[in-house]
Amino acid sequence: LTSNPTSSGLHIIHIAAEVAPVAKVGGLGDVVTGLSKSLQKKGHLVEIVVPKYDCMQYDLIRDFRALDVVVESYFDRQLFRNKIWVGTVEGLPVYFIEPHHPLKFFWRGQYYGEHDDFKRFSFFSRAALELLLKADKKPDIIHCHDWQTAFVAPLYWEIYAHKGLNSARLCFTCHNFEYQGTAPASELASCGLDVNHLNTPDRMQDSSAHDRVNPVKGAIVFSNIVTTVSPTYAEEVQTPEGGRGLHTTLNSHSRKFMGILNGIDTDLWNPATDTFLKVQYNSTDLQGKSENKEALKKLLELSSADATQPLIGCISRLVPQKGVHLIRHAIYRTIELGGQFVLLGSSPVHHIQREFEGIASHFQSHEHARLILKYDESLSRMIYGASDMFIIPSIFEPCGLTQMIAMRYGSIPIARKTGGLNDSVFDVDDESIPVQFRNGFTFSTPDEQGVNSALDRALSRYKEDRASWQQLVHKVMSIDFSWDSSASEYEELYHKSVARARAAKRA
Ligand code: ADP
Repeated sequence: LTSNPTSSGLHIIHIAAEVAPVAKVGGLGDVVTGLSKSLQKKGHLVEIVVPKYDCMQYDLIRDFRALDVVVESYFDRQLFRNKIWVGTVEGLPVYFIEPHHPLKFFWRGQYYGEHDDFKRFSFFSRAALELLLKADKKPDIIHCHDWQTAFVAPLYWEIYAHKGLNSARLCFTCHNFEYQGTAPASELASCGLDVNHLNTPDRMQDSSAHDRVNPVKGAIVFSNIVTTVSPTYAEEVQTPEGGRGLHTTLNSHSRKFMGILNGIDTDLWNPATDTFLKVQYNSTDLQGKSENKEALKKLLELSSADATQPLIGCISRLVPQKGVHLIRHAIYRTIELGGQFVLLGSSPVHHIQREFEGIASHFQSHEHARLILKYDESLSRMIYGASDMFIIPSIFEPCGLTQMIAMRYGSIPIARKTGGLNDSVFDVDDESIPVQFRNGFTFSTPDEQGVNSALDRALSRYKEDRASWQQLVHKVMSIDFSWDSSASEYEELYHKSVARARAAKRA
């Protein structure tokens, strides 16, 4: 195993279920990679531990190899062997854990959505800590993410700190409080945690069922730093309406809790270098954007008769959170108003997928709308590059990355004012916002009238005032959405926490 650093920066280890672009389902993968790269650039040693999924994109890992070690980890009163792989992803050292467990936890052809996800990820959380212990790592920060690796926090303080893995402070980031991974309390015992001790209201007991444990709650209680992915969402989840049962826990731990807006990886998302685009372009030369629009229309067999016809893009997981009924409404409204609409999305929810398949076939050969119901990164890039506007009508949105990517590609966001959208999209007509920050069209009420109020304004502005639209495109493309400033906020939290621990040790 690689040795520990002698760098003067911090040693930070992320334990996560995703790392982009190798194992990515949504924003979590982007954040782990983007934040890590930015912290690495600032001089810290950053390592990442993820499961070795069969369905990962192996071709995107450099120097991928198995280590000549076996790490044995505890589960269900037995020790299981784990093969450890290493490789470089986007310049970051990544460990991939392959459990040799008969249930083939990460050999399922998909990342999530298995009946035994609680087992799969509690096993992984424990194996990841075992790896750090056996490799004699002395990290300053262990940063875990979402419910899948939330187990790391109680496992660390209840078990591993006593085994000698005790150099670290724990940071937990919740990317979406909708997903808390609750399960019958007895299941917690599998990874070696003490159910009786932890299934209490002040520790891991779920607030709505006394016989269930809640991993996210456990991570809030047991971590030194707790963050979520935007300041507005951090406020929302501390209210009974927004907290999904965790507002009381968050309120009682509010001193260590804050919201930090995600950035995007501006190397990976850059229209000036994006090779998936027909033509690369930048804010001072937008001709390329028009060519991409033409190319996409051809590819999707949409009408190319009018080059000035506005094209609205939408790229989203089709789940209730994203306002699927409002997305559907926006398609029809856009056509009514003379625009074109392209939706790229897929749904893990069967009835939503079926409903959208119905809409897709309705528009199958329509001149002005196309629905593509799959996950396709290259097509997503073509849509960001081609679209004039981008709609995100979320019911709630912890941070949201698509509005930032869209802006980077010169597509003006039309967004509902919630969570991270409220922290990154500011209405062009909102006089309470300084002019330099106004960058899109927003609405508050999540209904069809709300969507119309923003969409109609966007389309008329586009048609009636071409010059000011071009200025707006130029402006949004120049906004800095890189990780730099957000990573500095994490860096500050880490440093403060490490300093507090050192001070406590000296006292
Ligand atoms: P969430 O994490 O809730 O899905 P985010 O806005 O934080 O939403 O991140 C979504 C990310 O996933 C973006 O990078 C977006 O481009 C990408 N994405 C979503 N759906 C698709 C799809 N069908 N095909 C390709 N990329 C997608």
